[in-house]
Amino acid sequence: MDILQFDLPLPDLSAWRAGNTGTEGVWQFDSGRPGRHVMISALVHGNEICGAWAIAGLLQALHQGLALDNGRLTLVLANLEAFDRFDAANHDASRFVDEDMNRQWIDARMDEGGTRERRRAAALRPFVRQADWLLDLHSMHEPSAPLLLTGVQPRNRDLARRMGAPMHIVVDAGHKDGTRLRDYGRFGLGDEEAGDSRSLLIECGFHGDPSSRDVARDQCLRFLEVASIFAPAALHEALPGWRQADAPAQWALEVTAPVVAKSSGFRFHAPFTGLERFDKAGTVIGDNDGEPVLTPYDDCVLVMPSVRQARAGVTVVRFARRSLL
Ligand SMILES: [Zn+2]
Repeated sequence: MDILQFDLPLPDLSAWRAGNTGTEGVWQFDSGRPGRHVMISALVHGNEICGAWAIAGLLQALHQGLALDNGRLTLVLANLEAFDRFDAANHDASRFVDEDMNRQWIDARMDEGGTRERRRAAALRPFVRQADWLLDLHSMHEPSAPLLLTGVQPRNRDLARRMGAPMHIVVDAGHKDGTRLRDYGRFGLGDEEAGDSRSLLIECGFHGDPSSRDVARDQCLRFLEVASIFAPAALHEALPGWRQADAPAQWALEVTAPVVAKSSGFRFHAPFTGLERFDKAGTVIGDNDGEPVLTPYDDCVLVMPSVRQARAGVTVVRFARRSLL
């Protein structure tokens, strides 16, 4: 498998990895006034370094005088152990150490431990439980426009609309093989039971593309603007250049079905990178261990196709219907 050029440099996290909470990589800031508890997390996947750049930038601003107006802010560098193994020539190898941390957010798995990612998730769990709003920063295996994943809850779609970017919003129910951070606990509840909770996962583009860092910064700024825990003028002054242009339009891509590989032999019929659209149902897009993979309906969009992690049971692409957000 070819390795895509990795142009985004590694952030220096040495000043930030200790945290200020007694848990490595976890920082908390408290205004001392009532308000939302907002969390931004990065490095749930160790090779997705755009989010670590954004968290380091926020920490620098907070240490240089940016102060909360109300509520609390938690910043998390999640899988530092995987990040420490990062090698630009083989970056997929530092996605995790033992297993994918973004499938371990199930209390029984965290209680059981058994892998480094489950133990780390358990250590982060008390902070996650405190949070009202979560933005989880990720990047992608393949070059692609940014995707904001809202889950199926309308409250998160509303938040995406208020943020005004990115252009593509993925409405999805998560994965078969575990629970993501953004679906854990209260974040996964329906709108009636969830109170003020909101959670978003942003896929900022290809891991090694410097623009993924611009997207991560822009999304942090927009999320913090809507969360209203900083005075807007102070936030913009402390984070110059972080805001990018608004999306000209926002599209909701409603994920209807994942394609799960039967083996590492899964192949696409073209080098898809995501957001490809197919007019007609029944178009063959790949081969799943001898079985043709067909688009299930007209005007079908591909979401995050990738065979880099392909093996039995792993989602290699998802199908989605498109509508204006
Ligand atoms: Zn990720």
